[in-house]
Amino acid sequence: MNKNILIFTIIICLMIFSPPVTVNGAAMFRDIDSQSIHGGLGTIEFRVKLLRDISTDPHNHVLVLGVSSDASERYEVEIIKDKMIARRFFGRCLLTAFISPYDFKIMDWHDIKLTWNNASTKFYIDNREVTKIALLESDDIPKLIPCIRLGKDDNFEIDKFITSVGSLIEEDPVDREFVMNSSCPDLNELLNERSQEEYRGVKLHHFPDQISRDKVKSYIALLPEDFARSIKHVIFAEDERFKRGELGSSDFKSMSIMLKKSNYDDPNVFFHEAAHVYDFKLRIATGVPDDKSEWTAISGVSCYFKGTDMQEFAANFRETHVKNAFLGGQGGECPPEDLAEWVGAVYEYYIKNKTFKDFLDPSGSLYSDKNQKKLDFLLSKGFYSKEIYDKVIQHI
Ligand SMILES: [Zn+2]
Repeated sequence: MNKNILIFTIIICLMIFSPPVTVNGAAMFRDIDSQSIHGGLGTIEFRVKLLRDISTDPHNHVLVLGVSSDASERYEVEIIKDKMIARRFFGRCLLTAFISPYDFKIMDWHDIKLTWNNASTKFYIDNREVTKIALLESDDIPKLIPCIRLGKDDNFEIDKFITSVGSLIEEDPVDREFVMNSSCPDLNELLNERSQEEYRGVKLHHFPDQISRDKVKSYIALLPEDFARSIKHVIFAEDERFKRGELGSSDFKSMSIMLKKSNYDDPNVFFHEAAHVYDFKLRIATGVPDDKSEWTAISGVSCYFKGTDMQEFAANFRETHVKNAFLGGQGGECPPEDLAEWVGAVYEYYIKNKTFKDFLDPSGSLYSDKNQKKLDFLLSKGFYSKEIYDKVIQHI
Protein backbone atom coordinates (compact mmCIF):
# COMPACT_ATOMS: atom_id res chain seq x y z
CA MET A 1 0.00 0.00 0.00
CA ASN A 2 1.04 3.51 -0.52
CA LYS A 3 2.24 4.67 2.83
CA ASN A 4 3.14 8.12 1.67
CA ILE A 5 -0.34 8.85 0.63
CA LEU A 6 -1.64 7.64 3.93
CA ILE A 7 0.77 9.67 5.90
CA PHE A 8 -0.08 12.79 3.97
CA THR A 9 -3.75 12.06 4.19
CA ILE A 10 -3.39 12.04 7.88
CA ILE A 11 -1.67 15.33 8.21
CA ILE A 12 -4.41 17.04 6.42
CA CYS A 13 -7.48 16.51 8.13
CA LEU A 14 -8.69 16.80 11.48
CA MET A 15 -7.03 16.75 14.73
CA ILE A 16 -8.88 17.06 17.91
CA PHE A 17 -7.81 17.07 21.44
CA SER A 18 -7.08 13.74 22.92
CA PRO A 19 -4.91 12.99 25.87
CA PRO A 20 -1.20 12.93 25.34
CA VAL A 21 0.49 9.86 26.63
CA THR A 22 3.55 10.10 28.73
CA VAL A 23 5.81 7.29 29.69
CA ASN A 24 6.14 8.20 33.33
CA GLY A 25 2.78 9.17 34.60
CA ALA A 26 -0.78 9.00 33.47
CA ALA A 27 -1.52 12.09 31.45
CA MET A 28 -5.21 12.84 31.39
CA PHE A 29 -7.52 15.76 31.07
CA ARG A 30 -10.19 17.29 33.17
CA ASP A 31 -12.94 18.79 31.04
CA ILE A 32 -14.40 22.10 32.18
CA ASP A 33 -18.01 22.41 31.11
CA SER A 34 -19.04 25.30 33.33
CA GLN A 35 -17.07 27.92 31.39
CA SER A 36 -16.42 28.76 27.79
CA ILE A 37 -13.71 30.66 25.98
CA HIS A 38 -14.50 33.75 24.01
CA GLY A 39 -12.76 34.11 20.63
CA GLY A 40 -11.73 37.55 19.40
CA LEU A 41 -11.60 39.20 22.80
CA GLY A 42 -10.85 37.08 25.83
CA THR A 43 -8.57 35.88 28.60
CA ILE A 44 -7.60 32.60 30.20
CA GLU A 45 -6.07 32.68 33.68
CA PHE A 46 -5.02 29.95 36.03
CA ARG A 47 -2.30 29.04 38.43
CA VAL A 48 -0.01 26.07 38.28
CA LYS A 49 2.19 24.28 40.76
CA LEU A 50 4.86 21.78 39.85
CA LEU A 51 4.87 18.66 41.99
CA ARG A 52 8.20 17.49 40.74
CA ASP A 53 11.01 18.58 38.50
CA ILE A 54 10.13 17.90 34.86
CA SER A 55 12.85 20.06 33.36
CA THR A 56 14.64 17.09 31.82
CA ASP A 57 11.57 15.05 30.89
CA PRO A 58 11.40 15.06 27.09
CA HIS A 59 7.60 14.68 26.98
CA ASN A 60 5.21 17.53 26.74
CA HIS A 61 2.99 18.26 29.71
CA VAL A 62 -0.15 19.95 28.52
CA LEU A 63 -1.60 22.40 31.02
CA VAL A 64 -4.51 23.72 29.00
CA LEU A 65 -6.13 22.99 25.69
CA GLY A 66 -9.02 25.16 24.67
CA VAL A 67 -11.21 25.93 21.72
CA SER A 68 -13.41 29.01 21.73
CA SER A 69 -17.17 28.56 21.91
CA ASP A 70 -17.55 29.65 18.29
CA ALA A 71 -14.91 27.06 17.29
CA SER A 72 -12.80 29.73 15.59
CA GLU A 73 -9.78 29.81 17.89
CA ARG A 74 -7.58 27.34 19.68
CA TYR A 75 -5.31 27.85 22.70
CA GLU A 76 -2.60 25.71 24.20
CA VAL A 77 -0.30 26.07 27.16
CA GLU A 78 2.22 23.34 27.84
CA ILE A 79 5.56 22.62 29.40
CA ILE A 80 8.31 20.86 27.54
CA LYS A 81 11.45 20.34 29.57
CA ASP A 82 12.52 23.69 31.00
CA LYS A 83 10.29 25.82 28.75
CA MET A 84 6.71 26.88 28.89
CA ILE A 85 4.99 27.24 25.54
CA ALA A 86 1.75 29.02 24.70
CA ARG A 87 -0.02 29.27 21.40
CA ARG A 88 -3.10 30.93 20.06
CA PHE A 89 -4.42 29.83 16.67
CA PHE A 90 -6.98 32.18 15.20
CA GLY A 91 -8.19 33.91 12.05
CA ARG A 92 -8.41 30.56 10.25
CA CYS A 93 -4.68 30.37 9.51
CA LEU A 94 -2.83 32.54 12.01
CA LEU A 95 -0.74 31.71 15.01
CA THR A 96 0.90 33.64 17.81
CA ALA A 97 3.37 31.57 19.82
CA PHE A 98 5.36 32.15 22.99
CA ILE A 99 8.20 30.23 24.57
CA SER A 100 9.87 31.02 27.86
CA PRO A 101 11.92 29.41 30.61
CA TYR A 102 9.73 29.09 33.70
CA ASP A 103 12.12 28.52 36.57
CA PHE A 104 9.47 27.43 39.12
CA LYS A 105 10.24 26.12 42.55
CA ILE A 106 8.53 22.81 43.23
CA MET A 107 5.24 23.26 45.13
CA ASP A 108 5.03 27.04 44.58
CA TRP A 109 1.98 28.44 42.82
CA HIS A 110 2.53 30.54 39.71
CA ASP A 111 0.10 32.70 37.76
CA ILE A 112 -0.38 32.16 34.05
CA LYS A 113 -2.37 34.41 31.73
CA LEU A 114 -3.10 34.29 28.05
CA THR A 115 -5.09 37.23 26.73
CA TRP A 116 -6.09 38.38 23.26
CA ASN A 117 -7.65 41.30 21.51
CA ASN A 118 -8.41 40.51 17.88
CA ALA A 119 -5.04 40.38 16.06
CA SER A 120 -2.96 40.77 19.22
CA THR A 121 -2.12 38.18 21.87
CA LYS A 122 -0.04 38.36 25.05
CA PHE A 123 1.18 35.75 27.47
CA TYR A 124 2.21 36.34 31.08
CA ILE A 125 4.02 34.15 33.59
CA ASP A 126 3.69 35.62 37.09
CA ASN A 127 2.63 38.91 35.49
CA ARG A 128 5.86 39.02 33.50
CA GLU A 129 5.10 39.46 29.81
CA VAL A 130 6.69 36.83 27.59
CA THR A 131 7.92 38.16 24.27
CA LYS A 132 6.07 36.53 21.44
CA ILE A 133 8.04 34.50 18.93
CA ALA A 134 6.01 36.00 16.12
CA LEU A 135 2.64 36.41 14.59
CA LEU A 136 2.67 33.86 11.81
CA GLU A 137 0.64 32.43 9.02
CA SER A 138 0.01 28.84 9.90
CA ASP A 139 -1.03 25.82 7.96
CA ASP A 140 -1.76 23.99 11.11
CA ILE A 141 -5.27 24.81 12.16
CA PRO A 142 -7.16 21.61 12.54
CA LYS A 143 -10.90 21.24 12.76
CA LEU A 144 -12.07 22.45 16.10
CA ILE A 145 -14.65 21.38 18.58
CA PRO A 146 -15.34 23.85 21.41
CA CYS A 147 -13.86 22.63 24.68
CA ILE A 148 -11.72 23.45 27.67
CA ARG A 149 -9.44 20.73 28.91
CA LEU A 150 -7.02 21.06 31.80
CA GLY A 151 -4.10 18.71 31.96
CA LYS A 152 -4.22 16.16 34.74
CA ASP A 153 -0.83 14.72 35.27
CA ASP A 154 0.99 13.72 38.42
CA ASN A 155 3.73 16.24 37.72
CA PHE A 156 1.68 19.40 38.24
CA GLU A 157 -1.53 20.81 39.62
CA ILE A 158 -3.75 23.53 38.18
CA ASP A 159 -6.38 25.61 39.91
CA LYS A 160 -8.27 28.91 39.78
CA PHE A 161 -8.92 28.45 36.11
CA ILE A 162 -11.01 31.35 34.85
CA THR A 163 -12.00 32.49 31.41
CA SER A 164 -13.29 35.96 30.72
CA VAL A 165 -14.86 37.77 27.85
CA GLY A 166 -12.59 40.80 28.10
CA SER A 167 -9.03 41.28 26.99
CA LEU A 168 -6.27 42.74 29.16
CA ILE A 169 -4.56 44.37 26.17
CA GLU A 170 -5.10 46.75 23.29
CA GLU A 171 -4.86 45.55 19.74
CA ASP A 172 -1.51 46.49 18.21
CA PRO A 173 -1.85 48.22 14.80
CA VAL A 174 1.18 46.24 13.53
CA ASP A 175 -0.62 42.99 14.30
CA ARG A 176 -3.80 44.27 12.76
CA GLU A 177 -1.96 45.09 9.57
CA PHE A 178 -0.34 41.68 9.47
CA VAL A 179 -3.71 40.00 9.79
CA MET A 180 -5.27 42.23 7.14
CA ASN A 181 -2.50 41.32 4.72
CA SER A 182 -2.79 37.59 5.33
CA SER A 183 -5.07 35.50 3.25
CA CYS A 184 -6.21 32.06 4.20
CA PRO A 185 -7.40 29.51 1.71
CA ASP A 186 -11.17 29.57 1.83
CA LEU A 187 -12.88 26.35 0.96
CA ASN A 188 -16.09 27.39 2.58
CA GLU A 189 -16.77 30.03 -0.02
CA LEU A 190 -17.19 27.17 -2.48
CA LEU A 191 -19.98 25.81 -0.34
CA ASN A 192 -22.01 28.86 -1.20
CA GLU A 193 -21.74 28.13 -4.88
CA ARG A 194 -24.81 26.47 -6.26
CA SER A 195 -24.53 22.72 -6.29
CA GLN A 196 -24.28 21.19 -9.72
CA GLU A 197 -25.99 17.95 -8.93
CA GLU A 198 -27.35 15.94 -6.03
CA TYR A 199 -26.76 12.23 -5.65
CA ARG A 200 -28.00 10.12 -2.72
CA GLY A 201 -28.62 13.35 -0.83
CA VAL A 202 -25.04 14.57 -1.37
CA LYS A 203 -24.66 17.89 -3.16
CA LEU A 204 -21.74 18.19 -5.58
CA HIS A 205 -20.07 21.57 -6.00
CA HIS A 206 -17.47 23.17 -8.26
CA PHE A 207 -16.56 20.11 -10.32
CA PRO A 208 -15.04 20.90 -13.72
CA ASP A 209 -17.10 18.39 -15.67
CA GLN A 210 -19.49 15.46 -15.69
CA ILE A 211 -16.66 12.92 -15.82
CA SER A 212 -15.23 14.05 -12.50
CA ARG A 213 -18.70 14.12 -10.93
CA ASP A 214 -19.41 10.61 -12.15
CA LYS A 215 -16.17 9.41 -10.64
CA VAL A 216 -17.09 10.74 -7.24
CA LYS A 217 -20.66 9.48 -7.61
CA SER A 218 -19.25 6.00 -8.18
CA TYR A 219 -17.59 6.33 -4.76
CA ILE A 220 -20.72 7.64 -3.07
CA ALA A 221 -22.62 4.71 -4.58
CA LEU A 222 -20.54 2.31 -2.49
CA LEU A 223 -21.46 3.86 0.86
CA PRO A 224 -24.08 2.24 3.08
CA GLU A 225 -27.25 4.28 3.47
CA ASP A 226 -26.54 5.96 6.83
CA PHE A 227 -22.97 6.72 5.86
CA ALA A 228 -24.08 8.39 2.62
CA ARG A 229 -26.74 10.35 4.48
CA SER A 230 -24.14 11.80 6.85
CA ILE A 231 -22.41 13.61 4.00
CA LYS A 232 -24.07 16.78 2.79
CA HIS A 233 -21.59 18.17 0.28
CA VAL A 234 -18.63 17.11 -1.80
CA ILE A 235 -16.62 20.01 -3.14
CA PHE A 236 -14.01 19.87 -5.85
CA ALA A 237 -11.33 22.51 -5.32
CA GLU A 238 -8.27 23.79 -7.13
CA ASP A 239 -4.95 22.85 -5.53
CA GLU A 240 -4.09 26.40 -4.52
CA ARG A 241 -7.09 26.49 -2.23
CA PHE A 242 -5.43 23.93 0.01
CA LYS A 243 -2.66 24.47 2.44
CA ARG A 244 0.64 22.67 2.14
CA GLY A 245 0.59 18.92 2.50
CA GLU A 246 -3.16 18.50 2.29
CA LEU A 247 -4.75 15.98 -0.02
CA GLY A 248 -8.29 16.71 0.99
CA SER A 249 -10.22 17.83 4.01
CA SER A 250 -13.46 17.44 5.83
CA ASP A 251 -15.60 20.01 7.58
CA PHE A 252 -17.96 19.11 10.38
CA LYS A 253 -19.97 22.30 10.47
CA SER A 254 -21.24 21.71 6.95
CA MET A 255 -20.62 17.94 6.99
CA SER A 256 -18.71 18.27 3.76
CA ILE A 257 -15.70 16.78 2.05
CA MET A 258 -13.31 18.91 0.06
CA LEU A 259 -11.29 17.15 -2.63
CA LYS A 260 -8.17 18.56 -4.15
CA LYS A 261 -8.05 18.61 -7.92
CA SER A 262 -4.76 16.75 -8.25
CA ASN A 263 -5.96 13.72 -6.33
CA TYR A 264 -9.74 14.01 -6.20
CA ASP A 265 -10.18 10.53 -7.68
CA ASP A 266 -7.88 8.77 -5.21
CA PRO A 267 -10.26 6.48 -3.32
CA ASN A 268 -8.09 6.57 -0.24
CA VAL A 269 -8.54 10.32 0.05
CA PHE A 270 -12.27 10.37 -0.61
CA PHE A 271 -13.16 7.56 1.78
CA HIS A 272 -10.74 8.75 4.43
CA GLU A 273 -12.41 12.16 4.52
CA ALA A 274 -15.86 10.62 4.27
CA ALA A 275 -15.03 8.44 7.27
CA HIS A 276 -14.19 11.53 9.32
CA VAL A 277 -17.60 13.01 8.58
CA TYR A 278 -19.49 9.82 9.43
CA ASP A 279 -17.35 9.25 12.51
CA PHE A 280 -18.19 12.77 13.64
CA LYS A 281 -21.90 12.03 13.23
CA LEU A 282 -21.61 8.78 15.19
CA ARG A 283 -19.14 10.22 17.71
CA ILE A 284 -17.02 7.10 17.75
CA ALA A 285 -13.56 8.63 17.81
CA THR A 286 -14.05 12.26 16.82
CA GLY A 287 -15.44 14.67 19.35
CA VAL A 288 -15.11 12.31 22.31
CA PRO A 289 -12.23 12.03 24.75
CA ASP A 290 -9.99 9.05 24.18
CA ASP A 291 -11.18 7.34 27.30
CA LYS A 292 -14.74 7.34 25.94
CA SER A 293 -13.83 6.50 22.37
CA GLU A 294 -15.09 3.13 21.18
CA TRP A 295 -12.30 3.06 18.66
CA THR A 296 -9.59 3.70 21.22
CA ALA A 297 -11.04 0.86 23.28
CA ILE A 298 -10.18 -1.46 20.42
CA SER A 299 -6.93 0.02 19.24
CA GLY A 300 -5.62 0.94 22.66
CA VAL A 301 -3.81 3.74 20.95
CA SER A 302 -4.10 7.24 22.25
CA CYS A 303 -3.07 10.52 20.78
CA TYR A 304 0.36 11.95 21.24
CA PHE A 305 -0.17 15.62 21.40
CA LYS A 306 1.98 17.77 19.20
CA GLY A 307 5.01 18.91 21.11
CA THR A 308 5.91 15.48 22.31
CA ASP A 309 9.50 14.55 21.74
CA MET A 310 8.80 13.17 18.30
CA GLN A 311 12.12 11.40 17.93
CA GLU A 312 11.45 9.40 20.99
CA PHE A 313 7.87 8.89 19.95
CA ALA A 314 8.94 7.63 16.54
CA ALA A 315 11.36 5.20 18.16
CA ASN A 316 8.65 3.86 20.46
CA PHE A 317 6.25 3.69 17.60
CA ARG A 318 8.57 1.62 15.44
CA GLU A 319 8.54 -1.09 18.06
CA THR A 320 4.80 -1.46 17.78
CA HIS A 321 4.25 -0.62 14.14
CA VAL A 322 3.00 -4.08 13.24
CA LYS A 323 0.40 -3.99 15.95
CA ASN A 324 -0.61 -0.52 14.87
CA ALA A 325 -0.99 -1.51 11.25
CA PHE A 326 -2.19 1.54 9.34
CA LEU A 327 -1.65 3.86 12.22
CA GLY A 328 1.05 6.23 11.05
CA GLY A 329 3.80 7.48 13.27
CA GLN A 330 3.61 11.15 12.45
CA GLY A 331 0.07 12.34 12.79
CA GLY A 332 -2.00 9.24 12.39
CA GLU A 333 -1.43 8.74 16.05
CA CYS A 334 -4.86 10.07 16.94
CA PRO A 335 -7.72 7.58 17.07
CA PRO A 336 -9.89 9.48 14.52
CA GLU A 337 -7.06 9.31 12.02
CA ASP A 338 -6.54 5.64 12.62
CA LEU A 339 -10.22 5.02 12.03
CA ALA A 340 -10.25 7.09 8.84
CA GLU A 341 -7.15 5.34 7.55
CA TRP A 342 -8.71 1.94 7.96
CA VAL A 343 -11.87 3.01 6.19
CA GLY A 344 -9.85 4.62 3.40
CA ALA A 345 -7.76 1.49 3.05
CA VAL A 346 -10.75 -0.88 2.94
CA TYR A 347 -12.32 1.01 0.06
CA GLU A 348 -9.03 1.43 -1.74
CA TYR A 349 -8.37 -2.30 -1.49
CA TYR A 350 -11.89 -3.05 -2.64
CA ILE A 351 -11.65 -0.75 -5.64
CA LYS A 352 -8.19 -2.00 -6.56
CA ASN A 353 -9.09 -5.66 -6.08
CA LYS A 354 -6.66 -6.25 -3.27
CA THR A 355 -7.22 -8.03 0.04
CA PHE A 356 -6.00 -7.64 3.60
CA LYS A 357 -4.23 -10.95 3.39
CA ASP A 358 -1.03 -9.69 4.97
CA PHE A 359 -2.85 -8.06 7.83
CA LEU A 360 -5.17 -10.93 8.65
CA ASP A 361 -3.05 -14.01 8.16
CA PRO A 362 -2.01 -15.14 11.64
CA SER A 363 1.21 -16.50 10.24
CA GLY A 364 1.99 -13.25 8.43
CA SER A 365 4.38 -10.66 9.73
CA LEU A 366 1.74 -7.92 9.71
CA TYR A 367 -0.86 -9.85 11.64
CA SER A 368 -2.50 -8.45 14.75
CA ASP A 369 -5.87 -9.58 16.08
CA LYS A 370 -6.69 -5.92 16.54
CA ASN A 371 -6.89 -5.58 12.80
CA GLN A 372 -9.73 -8.07 12.60
CA LYS A 373 -11.50 -6.38 15.48
CA LYS A 374 -11.22 -3.00 13.83
CA LEU A 375 -12.58 -4.28 10.55
CA ASP A 376 -15.49 -6.02 12.29
CA PHE A 377 -16.26 -2.95 14.32
CA LEU A 378 -16.31 -0.69 11.26
CA LEU A 379 -18.62 -3.13 9.52
CA SER A 380 -20.97 -3.18 12.51
CA LYS A 381 -21.12 0.63 12.48
CA GLY A 382 -21.97 0.81 8.79
CA PHE A 383 -18.71 2.20 7.45
CA TYR A 384 -18.90 -0.32 4.61
CA SER A 385 -21.17 -3.05 3.35
CA LYS A 386 -20.82 -6.75 4.05
CA GLU A 387 -20.06 -7.27 0.40
CA ILE A 388 -17.06 -4.94 0.53
CA TYR A 389 -15.92 -6.41 3.83
CA ASP A 390 -16.11 -9.97 2.53
CA LYS A 391 -14.19 -9.16 -0.58
CA VAL A 392 -11.43 -7.28 1.17
CA ILE A 393 -10.87 -9.69 4.03
CA GLN A 394 -11.01 -12.90 2.04
CA HIS A 395 -7.76 -14.64 2.70
CA ILE A 396 -5.91 -17.86 3.25
ZN1 LIG B 1 -7.73 12.41 8.37
